Amino acid sequence: MEQKKGTDWTLLRRVIATAKPFNSLFVQSIFLAIIITPFSIAQPFIVQQIVDNNIIKGQKEGMLLMAGLFVTVLIINVVMKYYFIYISAELGQSVIKDMRVKVFKHITNLQLRYFDKTPIGTSTTRTINDIEAINNVFAQGVITILADFITLLAVIGIMLYTSWRLTAIVFITMPFMMLATYVFKEKVKVSYQKVRTQIANMNAFLQERITGMKIVQIFNAEKQEAEAFKKINHSYTSANLDSVFYYAVFFPVVELVSAVSLALMIWLGAKGYIQDKVSFGALVAFPLYLNLLFRPIRFLADKFNTLQMGLVASERVFKILDNTNYIESNGTNVVGKLKGKIDFNDVSFAYDDVNYVLKNISFSVRPGQTLALVGSTGSGKSTIINILNRFYEIQKGQILIDDIDIKSYDLKALRDRIAIVLQDVFLFEGTVLENISLRDEAISYEKVIEAAKNIGAHEFIERLPGGYHYLVSERGSNLSVGQRQLISFVRALVFDPDILILDEATSSIDTESETVIQYAIEKLIKRRTSIIIAHRLSTIKHAQNILVLSNGHILESGNHEDLLNRPDGHYRLLYDMQFAELTSQ
Ligand code: ATP
Ligand code: MG
Repeated sequence: MEQKKGTDWTLLRRVIATAKPFNSLFVQSIFLAIIITPFSIAQPFIVQQIVDNNIIKGQKEGMLLMAGLFVTVLIINVVMKYYFIYISAELGQSVIKDMRVKVFKHITNLQLRYFDKTPIGTSTTRTINDIEAINNVFAQGVITILADFITLLAVIGIMLYTSWRLTAIVFITMPFMMLATYVFKEKVKVSYQKVRTQIANMNAFLQERITGMKIVQIFNAEKQEAEAFKKINHSYTSANLDSVFYYAVFFPVVELVSAVSLALMIWLGAKGYIQDKVSFGALVAFPLYLNLLFRPIRFLADKFNTLQMGLVASERVFKILDNTNYIESNGTNVVGKLKGKIDFNDVSFAYDDVNYVLKNISFSVRPGQTLALVGSTGSGKSTIINILNRFYEIQKGQILIDDIDIKSYDLKALRDRIAIVLQDVFLFEGTVLENISLRDEAISYEKVIEAAKNIGAHEFIERLPGGYHYLVSERGSNLSVGQRQLISFVRALVFDPDILILDEATSSIDTESETVIQYAIEKLIKRRTSIIIAHRLSTIKHAQNILVLSNGHILESGNHEDLLNRPDGHYRLLYDMQFAELTSQ
């Protein structure tokens, strides 16, 4: 527990440190928090003075002055409260605005391994919901708690100063108040955590179902899914109601305790007044003090919870920021252009450090040549291209480009020269143009058109409503598979890479599109080193070298004729099964 406290403090310090760029806002809000206090407690004090010195003694002189003072204090108080609320909220918003960008930038640089292990929903929650909770640390947490504490102390101080007897009476009920507050704080904390977990569950469920809506509908699973959703929704509602329950109990209890205090005070205080131990002014001012005393206590419990939630959220966000699982870019070799020689020397690789999916792979590709990778599903073809671009680090062996270890290259410079067309084409929401240029300003509209013309995609893009400005919807769902593939080809070509890697999608398309795509592929691999995971015989036939993979091993290698001439060869088998049919068409 002690240690937990310690980490809370460290966390809090770290959260506060994020406000450093907004030092002036931070200082202003602390300053306001401190100077607001005397103004809020001044009002009952003035009332007491008026009652004792003017009203009771029937002295009109100076009364107007006091009344004026009262109004002035009131106005200053209101204006300062406004500034205080606004500035502490602005501080919170400024901090999280920066933090969102920081987290997003950080995530975009993480190794792909992180994304293999982390659900999408989690990363989204970190960048949006959790950061929102950090805002509360500033807007409702630290500084307002500080302000409340100062007010509490000041109120107690002035109460003691005015009448220690009445103060003592008020304090009779204090232990009940403390107890109620403590119980409330603990209970609400637990129920908040439940609410948050349920929100996360609900988000995850929704996100996955909406993404997979096609499957839900194809298999008529709407009813089952709705049932499942109902259950989650129910848990969420009851978690919410739980926390509402504590509020519903706590606030009336506080009312009750303060009413009892008030009653006690008036009863015992009136006795004191009659016995001349308490001034009448004090008796009038005390209910006002009481209000000033109980209000912060009531809200403090809630604010502590908010602070706690913010800290929990910040812990999660910091965990992401502390994850420095980048691919190290220690290489200094920045090249403008690669010749395109590729060598794999005895490369072994496992995604999880244990189960090797590539075992002692060696091959080499000479500049300008095409290497084709074939093999059954799961044999490791896509993995080979994943490690060439350093999406993942290899455990054993060496990968050389132009006879230099890929680790010696500056990562960005290396990736600039290698273009990859992935097996599952991913398009973002945005125009066709944006999807091709990826908003890289160095790539002009003309350049995009030129590349599209070059590989024969221009015609189909022009035919889309709006042409290059056609709005692609999320994941490219308003384009056909073949169209998406062509766009991804243009994307690869427009960057004019020295090495082109193509992971062909297996999906079969009609003969006409087939010809278009075949033409595009030929254009893509022309005059540059390329590695192609091919499912089309015509592509493979042109390759200078073909690797046949199985289970992470290279079974055979050679060109099309060589491999076909091996009577019991794997390629021969594959050819007979897969390609013979195609060629006979
Ligand atoms: P296909 O022809 O179906 O695309 P492939 O030859 O491209 O198959 P790979 O994607 O290279 O196959 O997969 C090789 C092995 O690595 C498979 O056993 C797969 O389960 C595993 N694998 C692939 N990606 C990951 C990943 N991100 N994390 C862990 N294991 C993975
Ligand atoms: Mg693959």
